Amino acid sequence: MHNLLAGSVRHLNSMAIDSHCSKLIEISTLAELAELTIPDEPFYILGEGSNTLFVESNTPTLLKPKLKGIEVTEQQDKFVLNIGAGENWHELVEYTVTHGMPGLENLALIPGSVGAAPVQNIGAYGVELADFCHSVTWFDFATKQLQTLSAAECLFGYRESVFKHALKGKGIIASITLALPKNWQPVLSYAGLNTLPENVDAKTIMVKVIDIRNSKLPNPIELPNNGSFFKNPIVDTKHFEQLQQDYPDMPFYTQPNNQVKLAAGWLIEKVGLKGYRVGDAGVHEKQALVLVNFGQASGEDIAQLALLVIAKVFAKFAVQLEPEVRLIGKGGECSLTDSIS
Ligand SMILES: Cc1cc2nc3c(=O)[nH]c(=O)nc-3n(C[C@H](O)[C@H](O)[C@H](O)COP(=O)(O)OP(=O)(O)OC[C@H]3O[C@@H](n4cnc5c(N)ncnc54)[C@H](O)[C@@H]3O)c2cc1C
Repeated sequence: MHNLLAGSVRHLNSMAIDSHCSKLIEISTLAELAELTIPDEPFYILGEGSNTLFVESNTPTLLKPKLKGIEVTEQQDKFVLNIGAGENWHELVEYTVTHGMPGLENLALIPGSVGAAPVQNIGAYGVELADFCHSVTWFDFATKQLQTLSAAECLFGYRESVFKHALKGKGIIASITLALPKNWQPVLSYAGLNTLPENVDAKTIMVKVIDIRNSKLPNPIELPNNGSFFKNPIVDTKHFEQLQQDYPDMPFYTQPNNQVKLAAGWLIEKVGLKGYRVGDAGVHEKQALVLVNFGQASGEDIAQLALLVIAKVFAKFAVQLEPEVRLIGKGGECSLTDSIS
């Protein structure tokens, strides 16, 4: 176990926020996990920091799982893979697709670690982790034991799971187990993929997804960002029908239980904030759902901008946007309003 006296975390988060960390504990093996002393002070489990916004000048103690390894078992009808939490998600997608195990291609180029993937049930282009997740190996802080959580026990939903709620801060995801069925079917329903032929192979889909994402989303290495800053909001049918009368071109996705998902990026664009910039904090000029750091923005600068976006969208549409990004202050996870001094 590496107990590092850290420093700036700018290189440990995709928004490149220059907060200071005084204690960073890296965990590279299961033996180190078993020996882990759970910090008394506030702490945060950090993957690759691509869904994390440090909103204060200091971070809590950071626990960084770096457990590696991909084990593949071939069964008659599927490939079963156990993958260490510290592996990189996109590298896993490339590995599976190039080794003849299709399924994850629509999830190519999502930044971050394998261990974080179940936390918000990552998803893109009509596919989500839950479609392939068999189970999660969980290190429980109270018992200091590993346990297996079935996919059903993970309570996956839209950018949701048990790890954001009942199990938040109670343990670490050590590895995940995926089942990739051999009777693979491509998912081509989303714009950009729906022009591909039905007999397309997974590698072609992966390359197409990478091309589309590169053309639409800023690369955090060139322009630091957290991807979609807000979740797409879900409203009831009645509210949606009222909105649709005023905005007939409003994009929407019908959901079960009389609910409708709206496109947060479209709402932000319609309130005139696409390309808006305050100092070094900005709304991306091509994709309004993405907030960016032009260089020296602090986490608080980004949080202030997010609050402005939320207020303007609410004033115009009576729709409440919620951050998809995790907001982390010195005392641990906090809300947007908590993060403003
Ligand atoms: C350019 C860009 C594009 C993106 N596109 C998408 C997209 O298309 N779809 C999508 O779903 N997301 C997207 N995201 C968000 C991000 O990629 C995912 O949320 C990803 O899973 C975050 O991984 P990470 O390792 O960086 O997590 P972090 O930001 O480090 O952590 C995220 C959460 O997971 C927890 N966590 C991390 N590792 C563990 C662990 N081992 N055990 C327990 N908890 C853990 C953290 O405590 C935190 O709550 C995008 C982000 C960027 C920057």
